[in-house]
Order: sequence, then structure tokens, then C-alpha cells
Amino acid sequence: MFKINENYLELQDSYLFSTIAKKVDEYKRKNPEKEIIKMGIGDVTRPIVPVIIDAMHKAVDEMKEQNTFKGYGPEQGYEFLRNKISEYDYKNRNIEISPDEIFVSDGSKCDVANILDILGNENKVAITDPVYPVYLDTNVMIGAAGKYNSEKGMYENIVYVPIKAENNFIPELPKEKVDLIYLCLPNNPTGTVLNKSELKKWVDYAKENKSLILFDSAYERYITEKDIPHSIYEIEGAKEVAIEFRSFSKTAGFTGVRCAYTVVPKELKGLTKENKEVELNKLWNRRMSTKFNGVSYITQKAAESVYTKEGQKQIEENIAYYMENARIIRETLNKEGYVTYGGVNAPYIWLKVPEGLTSWEFFDKLLNEKQIVGTPGVGFGPSGEGYFRLTAFGTRENTIKAMDRMSK
Ligand code: PLP
Repeated sequence: MFKINENYLELQDSYLFSTIAKKVDEYKRKNPEKEIIKMGIGDVTRPIVPVIIDAMHKAVDEMKEQNTFKGYGPEQGYEFLRNKISEYDYKNRNIEISPDEIFVSDGSKCDVANILDILGNENKVAITDPVYPVYLDTNVMIGAAGKYNSEKGMYENIVYVPIKAENNFIPELPKEKVDLIYLCLPNNPTGTVLNKSELKKWVDYAKENKSLILFDSAYERYITEKDIPHSIYEIEGAKEVAIEFRSFSKTAGFTGVRCAYTVVPKELKGLTKENKEVELNKLWNRRMSTKFNGVSYITQKAAESVYTKEGQKQIEENIAYYMENARIIRETLNKEGYVTYGGVNAPYIWLKVPEGLTSWEFFDKLLNEKQIVGTPGVGFGPSGEGYFRLTAFGTRENTIKAMDRMSK
């Protein structure tokens, strides 16, 4: 009989958000009259802005005419979009990233997972803890994480880099040599960031140890403070050591439309077992050409319109809306005596749960007593125990309603 990929059996529990959904469904079944406010999943709620909708409509109309109809597009993305990304997201920040170093895709979740296709599975992997769970689980799936130690809540082959209040949410460089480093900045779930000099330490570490940094900057648009890098390539030498993942999901409300991109600089080289250097850009290009057939023309036209003057203005209004929610959440919780982090450069508020409760116990308490759904910190890694994530992606009305409940 055929065999399965047994690495999947090493995955722990079901995915965090499905566990939450199950608990919420059960609560709803037992308490159908209660109104639940969801501040758990990091999905946006604001509709797509008019400039983007117009661009999509125009692209749809092009599809009905013989001379403007589009079939398969380039697997790497249309030139018009790659050029805009290169110019607006990089050149305008004094970073040289050429369009052929940019690969357009249908989401960063797929990209951060699929990148493992072109990397060996014997690499020593460092993951900041807590973090977006996809990095860890995809390493488990390829067998790179080793066995799970249920006492520690950790996989034996993964180097966990704690980020918590005790170290000011600044991850310390690993004591041992690691090959792959996942950095998510601004961080999901803690909402914290690194300034340039802190991030430079990681780039220097990667250069010294010939490691690769997988830099996920899905929330870069939410940065409000100065001296916080929006791209890892703002750090000198980063093009030799880092792949950057960016998404239109949180920037422009594309969580349902699906569009993202990955930057694989040509300077970036990995080694074969025989110590021969190979350009990662060529491997990723090959991977995308073979396993992907490109993002739809309509979606890429929508993404292109993000870079118009009006597009920028409109998406910034939505981001400001969410960040105002973040302020309301932060200030209410602080007034109520909670210690909070984040919410200044990211749409996430990371709060310390009251003494004596675990983060899942606090989840149950909030659901039962306030009908508010958040995300237990431990779901993002063992160092998330004792913390809880609330998102600012809700509507203003629900955010205020939830904070009124927290104040009572
Ligand atoms: N990376 C991080 C850190 C995220 O928090 C998310 C979504 O929540 C993603 C990637 C997924 O992005 P996308 O919608 O482009 O797949």
C-alpha cells in the first residue's frame, strides 16, 4: 500500500485557529443568545478601497475583448507590477531591487511555506518564539523539526529564540550556529519591532555564519515610528543573506483577493553538499515556473493600483483606521490595569494575562465572561504562554463595544 508523509504525524494539535473556532462554535451552541466579538484571527474587515475596485473592474472588462483578453501570464508576475514594486517599495527607500528579483504570488503564507522547496531539510532552523505558526509547522512537515518534546512544548531540532518582556521583546542571537532564521517584523503576534541597529546584528550574524534570514514583513505598512526598518534590505549587506516576504493582505485588504510577493536577490547564494555556490534566485524562479501558474491578471492590476497616488492615500486611511482601533484597545486595557505591548507599529496588542492564569484559561474566561475572542499566546509558541493577542482589525463599533465590556 502507498505510504504517507509521516512528518505530518509530528504536527501538534490542529492548527491554532481551528482550535479557537471549535471552542467558539461550542460556546455559541450553548449560548445562542450571546453576541460574540471576534478579536482573534488577523483578518481585515475594511472593504477594498475604490481605486482598487475600479482597477479590478477595468481588468475584468479587458477580459471580454478579443484584443485585450489575457490567458496565462508570466509565472513570476506581470512586468507592470514587478516594476512598480521595485520602484515604490524599494527604489523610493534607496534600495536597489530589480524587477527580476521580485516574484509575485497568491500569498505570503504559501511563499514562506514553499520556500522550503529550494532549501535542504538538514538545515538548523531558528524561529523566534512566539511567532506566526506557519514557519514551524512547515518545517515539521518536511521533517526538519525532529521529534516533539511535549514537556517543553518544543521540537528537538528547532532553535527557539524567545521574545518576551524579560528581554524587551528583542531576540538574542543564537549561541549555536544556525542555518535558517525566521524573522517576522513587525512581529505577529507581539506587535513589536527591531530598530536598525538591532536588525543589523542579525544581518551580521547571518553573514558571519553563512545563514539565510527569511524576513516576513507582512505588517511593514503599520510601522509608525522612525528608525524602524520597513525592509531588511535597508541594512547594508542584507541582500547577500535575506529573502523578504511582503503581502498586499494587510497593506491593502487583499486577504480574500490574494496577492503577495517574495524578493530573492541575485547576490543570495546557497551551498550544495559539495560546497558549490548556487544562486537562490535561479532556484526560486525554477520552482515558481514549475509549480505555479501566476496570479490572475485582474488581481495583479488591482495590486498595481495600490501604487497610484490615490491608491496610497486610500489604503493609508484604512491602516490609520485600524491603528486607531489599536490605540483604543491599548489605552482601555492599560486603564484597566493590563500590561500591554505592541499596537504602535503593528495592528496587534499583546497583553500579559492576569497572574495565575494560562493563556488558554484567559481565552476561556474572556469568551465566557465578556464574549470576546482573542488568541492565546501559547498558540504562537511556548514563550507565548502567559500572554494573549488581540487584533485591531475589527470594526470601530466592535472594538469600542469590546473595550466597553473590558471596562465593566
Ligand atoms: N505572514 C504573517 C506574519 C502573517 O501574520 C500572515 C497572515 O496573518 C501572513 C504572512 C499571510 O499572508 P497572506 O495573506 O499573504 O498569505
